[in-house]
Amino acid sequence: MPDFNPSIILYTADALNDRGRAVLSQFPQAETLEVKQHNRLPELGMNHFKVKSDVLVLGKLKTQDIKWSGRSSDYIAPSLANGCFGACTYCYVDRHKNVNPITLFTNIDENLASIDAHVNSLAWPKPMNQTDATFWTYDIGCNSDISVDYDLTLGIRQVFEFYRDHPKAKATFATKFVNPGMLNFDPKRKIRIRFSLMPAHISKLVDVRTDSIEKRIAAINDFHEAGYEVHVNFSPVIVYSGPDGDKKAWRNDYRELFRQLDASLRPEVRQQLKSEVIFLTHNQRQHQANLAINPKAEELLWVPELQESKVSQFGGWNIRYEHQLKRKMIAVFEDMVRDEIPWCEIRYIF
Ligand code: SF4
Repeated sequence: MPDFNPSIILYTADALNDRGRAVLSQFPQAETLEVKQHNRLPELGMNHFKVKSDVLVLGKLKTQDIKWSGRSSDYIAPSLANGCFGACTYCYVDRHKNVNPITLFTNIDENLASIDAHVNSLAWPKPMNQTDATFWTYDIGCNSDISVDYDLTLGIRQVFEFYRDHPKAKATFATKFVNPGMLNFDPKRKIRIRFSLMPAHISKLVDVRTDSIEKRIAAINDFHEAGYEVHVNFSPVIVYSGPDGDKKAWRNDYRELFRQLDASLRPEVRQQLKSEVIFLTHNQRQHQANLAINPKAEELLWVPELQESKVSQFGGWNIRYEHQLKRKMIAVFEDMVRDEIPWCEIRYIF
């Protein structure tokens, strides 16, 4: 877990409710500065990484939109935060902003009221689907890493309590951090944490400033024991050759990863663990930025001979593996899961 200690906190006036003031008092040494908009920050003279470790922003989320997902969850909840201490080279949250410090939205009561109204408007019992057999699921961490945010505001614990106690709603989020403080909370299986996994030596290059794969795997049993439902998120799957040109290098490394997982998990943890698999998508703008700040990792992500481009819904150029090739890679991945960890159901793969 990062030792996050911002030197400056930017806030909008409407973010200073009890939650916002509590965050300010948690970092009394930080300089504070009021800004007009949480997503239009003044020039801070800090690079990509320093902004993420030195700046915290407090804002109020204006629109409480809840979007259909059908993949990681039934719905995407309104963001609790946006931005992250981590600096993963493929992070889609970083794609759309010049600087991306952790921005906490302090109007958590509004967020939870909108979820409560939304879930109560849905059919009950819920028709069973791959996201969950019983509860309507909400992804609460699409634009930040909730394991990091948990230590910055008691608001995240309030969110955990809401979902734990709600008769119809369940929360879920993917994470690349292990926060031992979260083990003191028992969500009674109403929060699904999804640890993101990939071959460890690749993670070291691309999952910048996150916890190691070894740490994440080692945490799975503990989180289950604490009362979380634990799944894994094989994402992004990056296809690469070995230093000797071996085109199967990525496959061999995933087999090894599956074996590590198989050896680490207790039987009752395996029994409830499912996975989701998402092959890498990349982005032209991010590619240019990475060439300047992380060219070694970029060699793994930008492989035009394997990739095709597509205009994203936001208008930028996204890059993904060529679709015929990807079909084959998906089949390979499914076969490897069947061979090595047959107890691990794939909820979805694309
Ligand atoms: S941990 Fe997640 S949110 Fe943070 S930089 Fe990495 S991909 Fe982005």
